[in-house]
Amino acid sequence: MNMMTELETNARFVDQFGRSKRKLRISVTDRCNFKCVYCMPEHPEWMKKHDLLSFEQLYQFCDFMVRRGIESIRITGGEPLMRQGVVHFIAQLQNLKKLGLKRISMTSNAHYLKQYAAALKQAGLDDLNISLDSLDTHQFKQLTQKELSPVLEGIHAAQAVGLPIKINCVLMNGINDNQILPLARWSVQQKIMLRFIEFMPLDGDRKWSSEHVVSEQQILDSLSTEFTVIQQPGDSARSSSEPARQYFMDGHPLGIISTITNSFCGTCDRVRLTAQGEFYNCLFAPQGLNLKTEIKALSCSEPLSELSLHAVLSKYIWNKESGYHAIAQRLENQRMNKSSRKISMHMLGG
Ligand code: SAM
Ligand code: SF4
Repeated sequence: MNMMTELETNARFVDQFGRSKRKLRISVTDRCNFKCVYCMPEHPEWMKKHDLLSFEQLYQFCDFMVRRGIESIRITGGEPLMRQGVVHFIAQLQNLKKLGLKRISMTSNAHYLKQYAAALKQAGLDDLNISLDSLDTHQFKQLTQKELSPVLEGIHAAQAVGLPIKINCVLMNGINDNQILPLARWSVQQKIMLRFIEFMPLDGDRKWSSEHVVSEQQILDSLSTEFTVIQQPGDSARSSSEPARQYFMDGHPLGIISTITNSFCGTCDRVRLTAQGEFYNCLFAPQGLNLKTEIKALSCSEPLSELSLHAVLSKYIWNKESGYHAIAQRLENQRMNKSSRKISMHMLGG
């Protein structure tokens, strides 16, 4: 390879709006033991196990991406702790820190966390986001079809081993919007950062409607009845690539991810890979890019495999659209026409 070609194929991935890609999310499985109403379809058709990329193939892909500017990798799902070997995968990813990787994170429902917390810490996991949408046992079961107590035990286990955690709560009007204050009080008491997430049109059964969205403003109004809420200094310019708007409530940090009413797309530095090797330049991308063949070739060290993977990826990433609002109408049309875009949050991983 001549020097020019080598430089070009090691360049960072950038889209047409100048946003460099620094964060990669890998969904290691679409399977999940929960059935969150805002995520999982009533009758999921799981990916076939033999269609999933192996951890070795995922590792080779991560290595390739880190050499092109990825600084942070988040392991997600489905429920990532349901895939055997995930802890070992995290330990293996530590090798990429010498190439520029800075953080390895996970998003989990925490149901199995009690048994995995110590091993995850030992494997070098840097931080963990945990979904918790209600503190009411009955409501939690209605939302997820699982019990609340293992989740709370998992959270305590993670705290006990010193894993930094954040709590994610998706709010839905008329379903769990009564949890804003209980979760806020609990997070202050537990000294855990809480992030509320606006419900996005990525649910498996496509029942989303704007009426179900609890907006950032509604959340702030509700919190203000009990807390003094102020925006964190420097956050209003939305200069960082952090998706959550940052607040203090009585001095305690709080985030709100308001994709629908205050999208963070302008600074988006994320890209995503599903468990069977489909790559997405955006959560709402109308079309993914199937990279299975290229990733398999990469892990077999086939000649020119890096070149061809780089060529298809850089073109697809370059064409990333400006964001949710640019895609929203098309997405809505696709949602009406239920035959298209079958991808939903349980495959993309959030
Ligand atoms: N099973 C893990 C969990 O629940 O944390 C990881 C996968 S889950 C798909 C990742 C994140 O996506 C969770 O924080 C979840 O709350 C969020 N999520 C799922 N469906 C969503 C939707 N329709 N709108 C907004 N967030 C959603
Ligand atoms: Fe499972 Fe997470 Fe989706 Fe809930 S949000 S159904 S825990 S993948």
